[in-house]
Amino acid sequence: MTDPDGRRAALARSLDEVRARIDAAARAAGRDPGGVALLAVTKTWPAADVAHLVDLGLSAFGENKEQEGAAKAAELATLRPGAAVRWRIVGRLQRNKARNVARWAHAVDSVDSARLVDALDRAAGNAREAGERSGPLSVLVQVSLDDAPGRGGASLAEVPALADRVAQSEHLSLDGVMTVAPQYSDAAEAFATFAELAQRVRASHPGAATLSAGMSGDLEAAIEHGSTCVRVGTALLGAR
Ligand SMILES: *Cc1c(COP(=O)(O)O)cnc(C)c1O
Repeated sequence: MTDPDGRRAALARSLDEVRARIDAAARAAGRDPGGVALLAVTKTWPAADVAHLVDLGLSAFGENKEQEGAAKAAELATLRPGAAVRWRIVGRLQRNKARNVARWAHAVDSVDSARLVDALDRAAGNAREAGERSGPLSVLVQVSLDDAPGRGGASLAEVPALADRVAQSEHLSLDGVMTVAPQYSDAAEAFATFAELAQRVRASHPGAATLSAGMSGDLEAAIEHGSTCVRVGTALLGAR
């Protein structure tokens, strides 16, 4: 297989480094490294990079825009036909994109309003009826830890009711919670608060076991506080 610019070799190296960081952080926390999934966030990078990462053994990819993700998923399907790949939306999603997302994405990790829950439930139901998806749409409720507008997320107080609403919907499955650490405060403190909330959600919904927290810059702190999924872009693919 040709790799003229050495891109695959570079991705293999950075993947090794990221995996080593995850392993070290899990061991330092007394956790099994196998309990921390790696979601490669491929926004702005081409489908050819996703194909390299598939060949290197990854199967979960995150995108933050519906249109970019849909196009990339379609292109990957021609580059690696039949590859068992799951796409997740990790960025803010407008309700009018719900219908399209339900056609190609396995999950939406950034659900932060009742209206979005209802739109996604309808969209997933329509997609199933049309034969465009076989299972429910997985959902994480996104938690905002700093109430900063723009980055998305529901407040701590709103999350339990949103989780209930997802759990009661017909075509969504509540898999857990997600957060992005606040930019200008202590990540460890934020992740501790997040872990407490996740535990509360899980007490009512035992299947909601996913804690998606930690990115290139703060994955160690997130793993120390129980993250089960780190979302890594820059450390894997380079600076956007
Ligand atoms: C872009 C993005 C990431 C990845 O961030 P890096 O710092 O590049 O690792 C993770 N989560 C979300 C929600 C993102 O938008």
